[in-house]
Amino acid sequence: MLRFKNINAFFLLILAISVYGIFQLSWPLYLLLIVLFSWLSITFYGATNVRLNYFFTALHQQKNTAKKEVALTFDDGPASQTKAILALLKKYNAKATFFCIGHKIDEQPEIFKQIISEGHTVANHTYSHAKNIGFFSSKSIQRELETCNLAAKSVGGVEMKLFRTPFGISNPKIKKALQKTGHQPIGWSIRSFDALFSSPDLIFKNIAKKIKPGDVILLHDTQKHTPEILERLLILLQEKSLKSVSINKLFNISAYA
Ligand SMILES: [Zn+2]
Repeated sequence: MLRFKNINAFFLLILAISVYGIFQLSWPLYLLLIVLFSWLSITFYGATNVRLNYFFTALHQQKNTAKKEVALTFDDGPASQTKAILALLKKYNAKATFFCIGHKIDEQPEIFKQIISEGHTVANHTYSHAKNIGFFSSKSIQRELETCNLAAKSVGGVEMKLFRTPFGISNPKIKKALQKTGHQPIGWSIRSFDALFSSPDLIFKNIAKKIKPGDVILLHDTQKHTPEILERLLILLQEKSLKSVSINKLFNISAYA
């Protein structure tokens, strides 16, 4: 399994062999650079792809499920499109999970309360969603998680247990913070790229060709085309007799403490 500890142990072994070769067998010195560059590349890849479970294990997919369920998830709200998304979910009798940013909960308390009152799950997506979160200390990340939870508690009366890391970043500091706060990390199995691409048709087709029972689909309630994509997706789910449920129902875990 591609894990941080295993990779480090492997590279230490390679390093030792390389050092022996360089000093005893006259191997070229640049071997050390190749080893270092390879280690850095793999570590960077692991740190920017939470789906690899490289530093910590997140739930990405309910594999081999007999239930015809998927989980639609929306990151970065409460935001401009949240109300439109809620209306569509209601229209198609679907449930979803919203990974909310703490400062936005404070800024849009009514929408946050509406998400909960309509039977959807809310979860932690840090307080600030800072772009440089990958460089935060474990103490700072812990504070991000705790202040986001505090906002949710004071506005919505819930103690959130589920967490999604911003930008899919993972590293040993986030792992340490999660061990302190006890949040369960959640990933995704289908990334819609709705925040990257502008064509709703392209984004919808990208999801539609992959979707199967047990999938966790990542969308954003910040993007103006997301409601359009969502409605097509909800119709597709109906056609496939797939039901959108909350992430906690999909994995049979609890969302709140
Ligand atoms: Zn995000």
